[in-house]
Amino acid sequence: MNNAQITAKGDAFVMNTYKRIPVAFVKGEGSWLWDADGNKYLDFLSGLAVNCLGYNHPVMVKAISEQAAKVMHTSNLYWVGPQVELAEVLVKQSGLGKAFFCNSGAEANESAIKLARKYAKAKMGEDKYGIITFTSSFHGRTLATLAATGQTKYQKGFEPLPEGFGYAKYGDLEDLEGKITNNTCAVMLEPIQGEGGINVPTAEFLKGVRDLCDKKGLLLIFDEVQCGIGRTGKFFAHQNFGVKPDILTLAKSLAGGFPIGAMVASDEVAEGFGPGDHASTFGGSHLACSTALAVVNHILQDNIMEHNAKMGAYLMGKFKELKEKYSFIKEVRGMGLMIGIQLEADGNWVLDQCQKEGLIINCVGGNGLRLLPPDIITKEEANLAVGILDSVLAKL
Ligand SMILES: *Cc1c(COP(=O)(O)O)cnc(C)c1O
Repeated sequence: MNNAQITAKGDAFVMNTYKRIPVAFVKGEGSWLWDADGNKYLDFLSGLAVNCLGYNHPVMVKAISEQAAKVMHTSNLYWVGPQVELAEVLVKQSGLGKAFFCNSGAEANESAIKLARKYAKAKMGEDKYGIITFTSSFHGRTLATLAATGQTKYQKGFEPLPEGFGYAKYGDLEDLEGKITNNTCAVMLEPIQGEGGINVPTAEFLKGVRDLCDKKGLLLIFDEVQCGIGRTGKFFAHQNFGVKPDILTLAKSLAGGFPIGAMVASDEVAEGFGPGDHASTFGGSHLACSTALAVVNHILQDNIMEHNAKMGAYLMGKFKELKEKYSFIKEVRGMGLMIGIQLEADGNWVLDQCQKEGLIINCVGGNGLRLLPPDIITKEEANLAVGILDSVLAKL
């Protein structure tokens, strides 16, 4: 099947939940993708911050094929070796206490919300259930994580949503303090917002949130589903700001493209869950965890984070040069390989033109470009992407 045939069949049989681009990728190698018509693309999207090691990476291929040949899944009624190994790595890297595994970002956040409530109700009283999140946040599509997401456009039509969520202005400590009520038990936020357009807060803001949580006896939940696992130059994005959460959620890059989600909490908070309180049939399987373990160990042992910080700074510098050249570029922001370019122009047109020139990027909010290249991107590939973007922007 070619792109058009796959598109036609998709329109006929797949639910219309995405405004899909009529291209189907059939092969990948490193930072490159090929579509069903044989066109080649440089990938600055990484499957939405998922394919951190690019495509067909030998470390992942080896881990998946070796584990698949042994055992893929046995249920969580028994111990899963690769799961306890992965838990140890995530606990040691975060300085927290215990990990729980599931299959996606929304599930990781759902489990964080449930743990925060269970812990708070037992330790602080039955009326402690409220969670404050932030404007332009994104926490997932299940009903509770949709309620946690501070963007009404995603919530419309799904009411009534679960109760107990309040929204403060991202970056505004005073607003946060004003939103805290007697029912509040936790504050939940992305240390760097992704879906909301790559918003990097100040360290003062994140430190202020931590201090406020300590002062008011609230749990701090960091959603690092998109910004975690080395992308920002540190293993966890919050390590760039020197602020530690009580609960941390991970997914996207964790197994480099194999579905997995994780929720890590301090020992004290993790005690909120006992047997039967929360579970996931597929969560933390041998296959998912051995893949994640291979990816994470590779990132930790191969100077990948240093590379991401350097390459991110290099790309940001190049995009800031473009900003000097084109007045319709309003802002270039980001950290490591998580970069947003705010335009006063149609971002979807730019995306479309870049794709025609062989560069895959993402558009957020109509006017923003989101760039999430894989960790393995080289300087030559970075220069190629900058050149394509420059030639497209020159046409505006
Ligand atoms: C993508 C994302 C989610 C949702 O993850 P899914 O795997 O799609 O459920 C949650 N939080 C953040 C910050 C995300 O970027």
